[in-house]
Amino acid sequence: MFEQDTIAAIATPAGEGAISVIRVSGEDTFRICDKIFKSPSGKKISEQKGYTIHYGEIIDNGEVIDEVLVSVFRKPHSYTGEDSVEISCHGSVYIQQKILQVLIKAGARTAQPGEFTKRAFLNGKMDLSQAEAVADLIASKSEAERRVALNQLKGGVSNELTSLRKQLVDFVSLIELELDFSEEDVEFADRNELLKLILTIKQRIDKLLTSFSFGNAIKNGVPVAIVGRPNAGKSTLLNTLLKEDKAIVSEIEGTTRDSIEDIISINGILFRFIDTAGLRQTSDKIENLGIEKAIEHVKKAEIILYLIDASQDAKPVLFDKILPFIENKKLIILLNKVDKSIISKENLNFGDAEIFEISAKYGKNIDKLEKTLLEAVNFSTFAQNDIIITRTRHYEALKRCSEAADNVVEGLRTNLPSDLLTIDIRQMLHFLGEITGEITTDEILGNIFNNFCIGK
Ligand code: GDP
Repeated sequence: MFEQDTIAAIATPAGEGAISVIRVSGEDTFRICDKIFKSPSGKKISEQKGYTIHYGEIIDNGEVIDEVLVSVFRKPHSYTGEDSVEISCHGSVYIQQKILQVLIKAGARTAQPGEFTKRAFLNGKMDLSQAEAVADLIASKSEAERRVALNQLKGGVSNELTSLRKQLVDFVSLIELELDFSEEDVEFADRNELLKLILTIKQRIDKLLTSFSFGNAIKNGVPVAIVGRPNAGKSTLLNTLLKEDKAIVSEIEGTTRDSIEDIISINGILFRFIDTAGLRQTSDKIENLGIEKAIEHVKKAEIILYLIDASQDAKPVLFDKILPFIENKKLIILLNKVDKSIISKENLNFGDAEIFEISAKYGKNIDKLEKTLLEAVNFSTFAQNDIIITRTRHYEALKRCSEAADNVVEGLRTNLPSDLLTIDIRQMLHFLGEITGEITTDEILGNIFNNFCIGK
């Protein structure tokens, strides 16, 4: 019953604007509109064709509330797949609320977060990963994020997984058929073909899995730690990077107490400079505290910028302390203050780590540093239109699917009885289905749609 209600919500951002849009969707949409909308020609919304727009007034108890435009969408050709309208009204907060109230009085109820998209999913307009992509697209803050979300919205991840899953379903049915003929020792499913398919799926899944850290970086910013002794020029470097790009996306509260993270967009990719404010604060405190902080930052980062003050022949004490935590991360050594340098690159010994001579204060080689930061994100591995996983939910399902695939491969190798083999294949099907929404639970749906904004 609940899904049959006609729902309404303000779809534009809260607050005043030039215009606002109120969305209505469900079986009674047109009947409800007829009660409250009057056009100059007297023609009702319920008599209008889909994909048309109509001028008129919203009336409450004989009083005109606002002049509006009503866009009509007839099922199944609407976002939700149901009959729906979008009412464009003047963007006063009062008018928006008033029209919503009038709609509710006429029989609609207020929509829950993501309910329009949930209906689109339930009506087969999109699968689950596409519904998630809608949320990601709305929330996208950078070019890269927008592109990844749009790829997924177009069906990127689902198309491929659905097709692989379907082939797997065919195999599992053949093997299960064999079980019905167990007395006769027949083999309908070619084990070599099965192995080939499992390996293909596994390879694909593993590529998607590796895309996750990239996807995560796109979404939340690539974590970068700037480490170095007090006065090495860490804050100056950060300020220069901020100014160079003029694109400070935001300052967000870090996860640790009293820390601020600076997010900078370089060529559409977000970099999150970790807890540099914390470092600034500790500059004049005891060294030990600084070291502990630095280690903390390094652990959280993917890229480490290690700053050395070239105007002092300072021994890189801190470096030995952080070195054990740098494994598998990108380390860039920055010899700062080269404008008044007394040591040069050649005097330094940092193994294979890249060393850059920069001047944070005068902007020397900052462009080169930016280029290196972008390269460190490892773009080359992912082409423009590659599918990139950005959600933990997908990552976990893929990871478990990959593990199940390992078990199938092992089972095939050791000639595991078919009934046991199918258990692992069914596991793979289950986890692939969780991503596209062929397998859902109320919990999964709740988690996804509750995080949407109202009106979407
Ligand atoms: P932090 O303690 O590592 O954050 O260091 P700061 O960014 O506060 O810089 C310490 C001092 O070094 C300041 O007086 C800066 O102006 C100066 N400084 C930073 N970068 C450069 C540089 O490239 N050249 C010169 N000459 N001075 C710099």
